[in-house]
Amino acid sequence: MDGKGLVASRLTAIRAQLPAGVNLVAVSKFHPVGALLEAYSVGQRVFGESRVQELMVKHDELPKDIEWHFIGSLQTNKVKYIAPFISLIHSVDSLKLMQEIDRQAERNNRKIDVLLEVHIAQEETKHGMHPSALFELLERGEWKSLNHIRIRGLMTMASFVSNEVQIAHEFELAEHLFSDVKKQFFSGDESFNLRSWGMSDDYPIALLHGANIIRVGTAIFGARE
Ligand SMILES: *Cc1c(COP(=O)(O)O)cnc(C)c1O
Repeated sequence: MDGKGLVASRLTAIRAQLPAGVNLVAVSKFHPVGALLEAYSVGQRVFGESRVQELMVKHDELPKDIEWHFIGSLQTNKVKYIAPFISLIHSVDSLKLMQEIDRQAERNNRKIDVLLEVHIAQEETKHGMHPSALFELLERGEWKSLNHIRIRGLMTMASFVSNEVQIAHEFELAEHLFSDVKKQFFSGDESFNLRSWGMSDDYPIALLHGANIIRVGTAIFGARE
């Protein structure tokens, strides 16, 4: 089948279902710039990538009003490449990474928004901090002196299972965790307000459990090669 128009129509259909206040990140990893341009042509401006090299190439080639989100695991030695332009890093899972993002943000005279990635899924393969590690990090407080990052909220991934009850339970845990963290560490901070959960297969469930950023790839762009 001719793919022309398919990306645009899938994207438009998904957008039409989203409640106000939910931000859709079009996860474009492994897809060619032509596919991103098709999404762009129907108004999509937020794209998510998970590899630094690929992101840099796409950032170079595509229109400058795109807001790039980094969603993959990020090595500290690569932060410098994306620091000049990245809008939101979803996948921050250590103090060391926060410190490096802060350092590179300062070098670029900017503040970089980040999410703390938590591991809630039962599978051991996922990235992110266990909730206990998250609280420990926040309690230690070093992050408070990092003036060039802004912690905007939490990100998580549900288990890769078909059991919707389990997925709903995991997103519910994420929602509660967000409230607890907000109350304990960010109560006066209106910018701590982002809840990034939900992908192609589970975003409708995520939306029932507090997500206000969803990261959708396959349902927009089709299967990745
Ligand atoms: C690839 C990826 C997605 C998108 O997954 P789809 O199932 O293709 O929608 C979302 N979040 C993260 C962290 C990813 O790596």
